[in-house]
Amino acid sequence: MTRRGEKAAAPIPLTKPDIRQEDIQRAVQVLQSGMLVQGEIVEQLENELSERIGARHAILVANGTASLHLALLANGVGVGDEVIVPAFSYVATANVVELVGATPVFVDIELDSFDIDVSGIERSITPKTKAIIPVHEFGYPADVSAIRDIASKYGISVIEDAACALGTEADGTSVGIIGHIGSFSFHPRKAITSGEGGLIVTDDADAARYFRAMRSHGMEKRTQSIDYVFAGFNYRMTDIQAALLLGQLQRLDGYIEERTRIARRYSNEILSDKVQLPSLPAKESKHSWQSYHVLFENTEMRTRFWNHAKAKGVQTGLGAQCIPGQTYYKNKYGFTGKEFANAYRAYECGSVLPIYSGMPEEFVDRTIETVNGFKG
Ligand SMILES: *Cc1c(COP(=O)(O)O)cnc(C)c1O
Repeated sequence: MTRRGEKAAAPIPLTKPDIRQEDIQRAVQVLQSGMLVQGEIVEQLENELSERIGARHAILVANGTASLHLALLANGVGVGDEVIVPAFSYVATANVVELVGATPVFVDIELDSFDIDVSGIERSITPKTKAIIPVHEFGYPADVSAIRDIASKYGISVIEDAACALGTEADGTSVGIIGHIGSFSFHPRKAITSGEGGLIVTDDADAARYFRAMRSHGMEKRTQSIDYVFAGFNYRMTDIQAALLLGQLQRLDGYIEERTRIARRYSNEILSDKVQLPSLPAKESKHSWQSYHVLFENTEMRTRFWNHAKAKGVQTGLGAQCIPGQTYYKNKYGFTGKEFANAYRAYECGSVLPIYSGMPEEFVDRTIETVNGFKG
């Protein structure tokens, strides 16, 4: 509540990018150079990302949806094919399957990790299945090595949607390189951002060559000339965007440490019995805490929590979608969303809480007090 004449303080945001003066300066240098599209800085960032992730090839693109789209095309996924996706994720994960003319086959999630329920995958495989897209939801590592074992039995590709998960590790290995192709995003809701931006990683040289050409109209450089070997897109990232990411990438470990510390405070200090807290991954793994996602008993209680948090000046929101419950998928496939009980529950009863590096301690305190002060 604000008294008359008193200006309402801005609410605690869900996230806030850490763009520093040095990052801006790098972008300004690009602007002053006059070389505004994909160039040297993109290449430099690709080298740093491939080293950081441990991938042989890193290809920057316009956004994380473009990278998923190209990953499907590289696998020849098209009309008549099926792709297994989790029922709870950002809609882009399934939309790209629709966009290449294939059919998404939804598998429910587990409520402790919010990741795909691996035990539901095998029975969803048919002779039409071409790929599986596990998502590292909110930065929690999906069990990609188990998924890869299933996939290799059937000759299916694994495309990791690691959009939320730069810095996430499974058994000491960065996500994105456990499957065949990995996809990342640099949207402002992710740990490091260029406004829009995406990344594909792979160890497959032919796939990498395809991605480099496809992001730029199908172009390949020859010694003396250029040639167009595919009908490609313009899915390029600009040097202006890449310049913003160089410094953030160097600070990534610090960001994840800080997010982990905040997540730990939430997990230790939120004592309310109205809310179910997210689980932690196995000790050898690393959660990157893109989001801290909690569950309420039902939708009505979540609505009451959202109103309570709003009054306390704490931003909240949906974490991801129950994709089959969205209008397009309902209309096309006759789903209600309830077929996928856990995805439905996560969507209908879930809320994210503010978490970001640089979040003032008093904001963390206030968020904890807000949840603990919620009476249901
Ligand atoms: C953010 C996100 C995307 C899309 O990335 P954009 O860069 O916004 O296109 C895809 N999948 C998941 C799981 C995401 O969180």
